Amino acid sequence: MTVGRVRLKEHEYDFPLYRPPSEARSLLVRVTRGCTWNKCTFCSMYKHLRFQRRPLEDILRDIAWAEQCCRDDVETVFIGDSNSLVIKTTDILTVLNRLYRSFPGLTRVTTYARAKTLYKKPFDDLLRIRRAGLNRLHVGLETGNAALLKKIYKGATPETFIEAGRKVKEAGFELSLYVLLGLGGEEHWQALARDTAAVLNEIDPHFIRIRTLQPQIGSEIYADLQTGVFTKATPETVLQEQRLLLENLTVTSHYLSDHITNYVPVNGTLPVEKASLLAVLDEAIGDLPGNTALQQQFSRKDQLKSL
Ligand code: SF4
Repeated sequence: MTVGRVRLKEHEYDFPLYRPPSEARSLLVRVTRGCTWNKCTFCSMYKHLRFQRRPLEDILRDIAWAEQCCRDDVETVFIGDSNSLVIKTTDILTVLNRLYRSFPGLTRVTTYARAKTLYKKPFDDLLRIRRAGLNRLHVGLETGNAALLKKIYKGATPETFIEAGRKVKEAGFELSLYVLLGLGGEEHWQALARDTAAVLNEIDPHFIRIRTLQPQIGSEIYADLQTGVFTKATPETVLQEQRLLLENLTVTSHYLSDHITNYVPVNGTLPVEKASLLAVLDEAIGDLPGNTALQQQFSRKDQLKSL
């Protein structure tokens, strides 16, 4: 059941600005505001915000309001904003303990996290956080290509992602990694697809979530697009990139394109459904040149703003 957002708003409850689509029914709890890094060239999400850790008493007050409003309705919680595990381990443990005490039906707590933060966090801290009930981490990989990671200013190398990914899996977390198609524009898509598959294969995350770059106002990539420094990949290139990525995956993951930016819905479990997922992409790639309705549908994706 969804929680009472309207009733929480009455109490000036501090909602995170973003959450994954899979957390649409979750209670949202904000422990930080903004992004500790805030430099990725494709991202406009928190550019207007100065990063802040919220005082623990404010977070606990929000949880108390949520308990008063929806104690028996909360089954899942998402913690925001973009890199929650940067707060003190003792504080995140306090928040988790309070959440499980407040909501008897709670079964899952998830958060966004940066790979670099997970890489640096002591393993014992991760273990304690996992045991206190944080189940799943959503991490933006974007690409496995070292040069492109540098170019988009991601602040992490493929090796950082691999080490952080293996570490959090060993600590018992479910790991959801995000891939952003089209980041290389029209060039080098074959190398990007192969390098991204190689990193994903090394980690074997529980979830691979596909996104397609639709540059947003406020991001550096959007400015580069306007000045001609960056050329956006065509839908056909993006689909080819996705096909090659999928073809090279040897993971045992849920593969999901659960976002409005993607041209084609491709969802299934790997490796068992790989052939049928490739067939979905092949059909779209084959249809595209002569199918005006499909071209128009894809072109509407290219106009998406305020994601
Ligand atoms: S993509 Fe994530 S880490 Fe990068 S600036 Fe945006 S919120 Fe921060």
